[in-house]
Amino acid sequence: MANTKAMVDFHVHTNCSDGLLSPDEVVRKAKEIGLAAIGIADHDSVDGIEEAIKTGDEIGIEVVPAVELSCLYNNNDIHVLGYYIDYKNPELLSFLESVQKKRLERAYKIVGKLSEQGINIDVERVLELSSGASVGRPHIAQALLEQGYVSSFNEAFWKFIGYHCPAYVPKMEINPQEGINLIKKFAGISILAHPGSYHKDDIVYALIAAGVEGIEVWHPEHSENSAEHYLEISQKNGLLITGGSDCHGGRKGKIFMGEIRVPYHYLSELKQKRFEK
Ligand SMILES: [Zn+2]
Ligand SMILES: [Zn+2]
Repeated sequence: MANTKAMVDFHVHTNCSDGLLSPDEVVRKAKEIGLAAIGIADHDSVDGIEEAIKTGDEIGIEVVPAVELSCLYNNNDIHVLGYYIDYKNPELLSFLESVQKKRLERAYKIVGKLSEQGINIDVERVLELSSGASVGRPHIAQALLEQGYVSSFNEAFWKFIGYHCPAYVPKMEINPQEGINLIKKFAGISILAHPGSYHKDDIVYALIAAGVEGIEVWHPEHSENSAEHYLEISQKNGLLITGGSDCHGGRKGKIFMGEIRVPYHYLSELKQKRFEK
């Protein structure tokens, strides 16, 4: 029986995507703050899992392997978490590699389109800002800001790189159905990440119809009311329930690891589902 006071943070990033801490540091931090288990869920990457599990075994923290897939649904960036995905599967690894490659290609295309308009930012700087992983428009916006082409982050989006803008390049991403299928294919359990950040319940119902197995109910972007709302949707639909800090390692207006933690029984239920398969 799991300790009833044991708590889990299901959703933490490492520097294998856009987090600041290494997997080893993340796990040590989790121990320090008294968590029983931690979900390592990097964006389109499983590269940090092995190191995290190794440290976890050493110091006695349960590491839940996961990935956070970016999917595109009616032009909304939807994140789907895949818990206990077979992170060593070569086919999964080559898929994730192709995702990273597409992100990189897109960054080069956007920088190229900007230079056609006389806006010259250094692609090397953009990559530096992304710390080499999961490069995206926010890093380009930051480079534009640094070079003085815009006076705010938002201006970069509405002037240059937002939807319908001259240097806009569409994302080449999988849709949520493909994301869910992919997670299933590699033995993972799919959870819709932070539904509150999409502001639309039709997305939640579309994902349920597509076979998503659970909902991230507690998240820094969810108010108490919206968490209750998603809890109700989950319970009505017999879905798994998770919650996490989505910590990226630095405060930057965001919260730290473990500031959102949920009772261990939610992890037990998720594991139970895994063995029912
Ligand atoms: Zn996310
Ligand atoms: Zn996340």
